[in-house]
Amino acid sequence: MSAIIKGETGDWEIVIGMEVHAQITAQSKLFSGAATDFGSAPNSQVSLVDAAMPGMLPVLNEYCVEQAVRTGLGLNAQVNLHSVFERKNYFYPDLPQGYQISQFLHPIIGKGIIEIDLPNGETKEIGITRLHMEQDAGKSIHDQHPTKSFVDLNRSGCALMEIVSEPDLRGPEEACAYLTKLRMILRYLETCDGNLEEGSMRADVNVSVRKPGDELGTRCEIKNVNSIKAVQMAIEYESVRQVELIENGGKVKQETRLWDNAKGETRSMRSKEEAHDYRYFPDPDLLPLIIEQSFVDQLKQTLPELPDQKKHRFMESYGLGIYDATVLIMERSRADYYEEAAQNRDPKITANWVINELLGGLNKDGKTLDESPVSAKQLGELVGLISDKTISGKIAKDVFAEMMASGKNPAAIVDEKGLKQVTDTGAIEKIVDEVIAENPDNVAAYKGGKDKLFGFFVGQVLKKSGGKANPDMVNELLKQKLDQ
Ligand code: ADP
Ligand code: MG
Repeated sequence: MSAIIKGETGDWEIVIGMEVHAQITAQSKLFSGAATDFGSAPNSQVSLVDAAMPGMLPVLNEYCVEQAVRTGLGLNAQVNLHSVFERKNYFYPDLPQGYQISQFLHPIIGKGIIEIDLPNGETKEIGITRLHMEQDAGKSIHDQHPTKSFVDLNRSGCALMEIVSEPDLRGPEEACAYLTKLRMILRYLETCDGNLEEGSMRADVNVSVRKPGDELGTRCEIKNVNSIKAVQMAIEYESVRQVELIENGGKVKQETRLWDNAKGETRSMRSKEEAHDYRYFPDPDLLPLIIEQSFVDQLKQTLPELPDQKKHRFMESYGLGIYDATVLIMERSRADYYEEAAQNRDPKITANWVINELLGGLNKDGKTLDESPVSAKQLGELVGLISDKTISGKIAKDVFAEMMASGKNPAAIVDEKGLKQVTDTGAIEKIVDEVIAENPDNVAAYKGGKDKLFGFFVGQVLKKSGGKANPDMVNELLKQKLDQ
């Protein structure tokens, strides 16, 4: 689905802005020393600060600040040397403090830019409005007891980055491309693991529609969209709902809506009138956060090569096309695997093998790259055997299948199974003569002008040689003999 909806009154444009909550990868929480591991026993990672015991004071985790600044640098954004933690007041059972400590008027990161990759190969710049740090809440559990609710405070106080985009996204495709790229950058930086299922990355999607060229329409914010596929479906549903509403004489109300994945629809959660008044004020327990430019500069030195830089380098130094480069840089570990395999090998052939055979094969076996039975070095060796004509590309596929099954080295498999390509002219000539002698009718037909039969002879010779005859030599010898 594109960014345009064809309504009864003409075209409508879909406008989207995203608020992404990304849990900061850190050993301990934003204001306490409690651990942050996912999936631990309920309430086993809760300090007195996280449980909001009276008299407890928050102490800022410097590592989390570093992670937020590194993320800001990765988003090409302005780092604010002065930022402020405020109290966002609301009552909810999973928030023992009665307020969330968050940055509001003075976030640590200001305006930035993300370049997204569109399916047609083009790119587009999306504005980042801000990134601020805040605490996560705990989790209420309602399905364990008929009359009681429980609370698990393990997540309470974990550090989050809220990353807000400008309403620059048009349509579901761009929204998905944005989330994909943002996740990629966070994972490259190792500032968030980007795990949508475990909730360490969560997106709120703001959707509105307008006639192209008009002012922005009224938006609805959709919560609870926890996969990239769900983001796409929620936008498709919500934008059509808004167009139909307006075309039937209604008006979009600014409200928060919930995505129901099972029903495939959004529904109203609370309207703007019911919105909380958070009564923000600077947290008196925390001083303003002042960082030095030298701290920022040092962190800049620690940034890895980011996805876009890597993509351009792969295209320039390995001569790869945009499609191959984009697939290879999707994960840092995948790019590293490729570079190791391609060392001293033909980079394009290696890229084909990584993308089509390796990733395809792993996918079929339900394995990740980490679990690959074939190491990067081994795959490189296989490419080497093709390039130096020890084996043909066709035989290489059989060798590769064996490597995937056994983890053995390609050279060992070629030796064991006697798969070495035959390049001995005498040996190939012998087979060519046999094939010609065995098929007098086809030879006559070929000589009579049925050129297409040439492929038949090539196939027969290769088959007789067990696929091992060098195809170029087979072609040449056949031509010589048949065209005599
Ligand atoms: P709030 O703090 O109430 O959530 P913001 O002004 O911070 O409001 O906006 C939140 C998100 O909504 C941002 O990602 C922004 O890009 C997006 N947004 C704002 N206006 C629109 C609109 N008309 N259509 C779609 N998204 C919008
Ligand atoms: Mg919001």
